[in-house]
Amino acid sequence: MMNSIIDLHCHSTISDGLLTPTELVNYAKECNVNVMALTDHDDIAGLNEARIAARSNGIKFITGVEISVTWNKRTLHIVGLNFDEKNINLIQGLDSIRKGRDMRAKKMAQSLGMAGIMNAYEGARSYAKNSTIGRIHFAQYIVEKGYAKDIKSVFKKYLTPGKPGFFDHKWVTLEEAVSWISDAGGDAVIAHPGRYDMGNKLYPKLFSEFKDLGGSGVEVVSGSQDPSQTNYFCKLANKYHLLGSCGSDFHGPGISHRAMGSVHVMPDPCVPIWSKWNNIMESSH
Ligand code: AMP
Ligand code: MN
Ligand code: MN
Ligand code: MN
Repeated sequence: MMNSIIDLHCHSTISDGLLTPTELVNYAKECNVNVMALTDHDDIAGLNEARIAARSNGIKFITGVEISVTWNKRTLHIVGLNFDEKNINLIQGLDSIRKGRDMRAKKMAQSLGMAGIMNAYEGARSYAKNSTIGRIHFAQYIVEKGYAKDIKSVFKKYLTPGKPGFFDHKWVTLEEAVSWISDAGGDAVIAHPGRYDMGNKLYPKLFSEFKDLGGSGVEVVSGSQDPSQTNYFCKLANKYHLLGSCGSDFHGPGISHRAMGSVHVMPDPCVPIWSKWNNIMESSH
């Protein structure tokens, strides 16, 4: 599809976004998005609702998820795209990560309690409701209680490594995440590589390992990474025969400064991941 606006990374209330899947798709329509994937953290419960809303808005819908991974003692995010959402391995794998998330949340609450912020689990839960709980929900509660002025400063003061509310959780391995996505017939993509701050030795190691495990692509452009890094990731992706993906990483008005569809220009030397999806991109829905 020529001149399409494609956004393959965003969040709904199923994880830490502010809009329901339907509201998010309606908002994507306002932003003139033609093709989108919903990629909630470790959860695919929003896909059905989003697909229905996309259909009624004339938006092509791609299944998506953003999986939390521990690699080389770091947390990485791997986006899965265009998979079969009924795949049992994927469903069970995501289930296990969400159980881990809940345990992590309890640990975070304990240490926040020792720093004087009480009832943080219940507080974060009231924002997450039944959905997948994450650090943003703690941030919302901590702002509500007046311990920090906004979400950004909560992360800085409480929720990052070395700070009182941070718990060094072990997520799944890169191999597990890639194999669940591949097993479900989908494409695995390294999310916002620019956020990992790994340096010129580790990035090539990650890209090469990821390719060997069966990974398909890299977000060479992302709403949550610095555009000055685009060229570097583009070259590195080409070197390891990884395709290019793009997305806003939109979480909601007020949290994200990038609108949906705003990060969609794939730099020239990169081969877009959707070049694999001709049957979807050329169909009328
Ligand atoms: P979690 O997966 O629960 O550890 O939370 C990670 C999420 O927290 C990311 O996807 C972002 O939505 C959000 N996040 C991480 N760092 C920051 C930050 N510095 N400011 C605002 N939100 C952040
Ligand atoms: Mn998030
Ligand atoms: Mn992420
Ligand atoms: Mn994300």
